[in-house]
Amino acid sequence: MESLQNHLKQFMNSKGFRETYLNLKQQIKSDKDVRLFLEKHKNQIDEHMIDRSLGKLYEFVTQSKFCRECRNLDECKNILKGYHPTLIIERKTIDLKYDKCPRKEAYDARKKQESLIKCMYVPKEILNAHLEDIDLNEPNRLKAVSLVQDFVEQYGQNDRLKGLYLYGSFGVGKTFILGAIANELAEKGVPSMLVYVPEFVRELKSALQDHSLNEKIDAVKKIPVLMLDDIGAESMSSWMRDDILGSILQFRMLENLPTFFTSNFDFSELEHHLTYSQKGEIEQLKAKRIMERIRFLAIPVELKGKNRRQE
Ligand code: ADP
Ligand code: MG
Repeated sequence: MESLQNHLKQFMNSKGFRETYLNLKQQIKSDKDVRLFLEKHKNQIDEHMIDRSLGKLYEFVTQSKFCRECRNLDECKNILKGYHPTLIIERKTIDLKYDKCPRKEAYDARKKQESLIKCMYVPKEILNAHLEDIDLNEPNRLKAVSLVQDFVEQYGQNDRLKGLYLYGSFGVGKTFILGAIANELAEKGVPSMLVYVPEFVRELKSALQDHSLNEKIDAVKKIPVLMLDDIGAESMSSWMRDDILGSILQFRMLENLPTFFTSNFDFSELEHHLTYSQKGEIEQLKAKRIMERIRFLAIPVELKGKNRRQE
């Protein structure tokens, strides 16, 4: 009885098989990227080498390259999602090397950027905000945007950088600008944190003994760039004002850590808000002390304009 090997040999030498094989080989060799590769390395490659590597070449032509065949990362058809092959020569055979495709590169960069921006009680959608979206014809936007650009440019070079105190009525886009700043900073690799003050205060109040809250306060103190959103919209006890907010601001002043604020109040209205109803002399002094720190940390910019939430 003939061996299986002989059978196979016969089959592979049969006319039908050879025709199919040669057809396939021709198709593979006529692929544009394969042609370029073979042309580029023609001194190192002979027919024998192509025959030996046909499996790899076949794999190469069936994969998507430079995301040509995928509209987004989810639709990536490759064996390794998000990776596309290039042809290389390794030990006298043609082989494949898989690298991240452009969409995977962009996706990973975006994930990394998002991980630099921490939000406490601020909706993540605000991270879609970009400085280019801000209409510079609206009152004071040009001033705010150019101060933000200066800030981002100088961050890391000037260690006495002031943040901004953006104030104005409800819906003019104060929080939106914070989101845009966070994005600009993340592009430079600078971590920031947006904290919605009323919710932060509420949570601290309801769980004084909670260990995680101490951790949260510490994170807020130490983050390279802090953004306190909607200060003045909270109801603050004197403990919260002096021992929490006061100490966060004091720490950031001493460590030269930039801090941004948004508020519906201008400085004098915020001072009034922090003074409470008793209006004792001590309360006034304490409110003034907080205001001193805010003035030290941030440049006030008033934002006027329409309420975008009614659109
Ligand atoms: P504020 O914090 O001043 O109350 P927001 O920043 O929350 O206002 O803005 C109100 C709404 O308008 C939000 O839904 C926000 O996403 C949108 N918005 C604000 N500024 C812009 C802008 N420049 N381009 C597009 N949408 C904006
Ligand atoms: Mg807001």
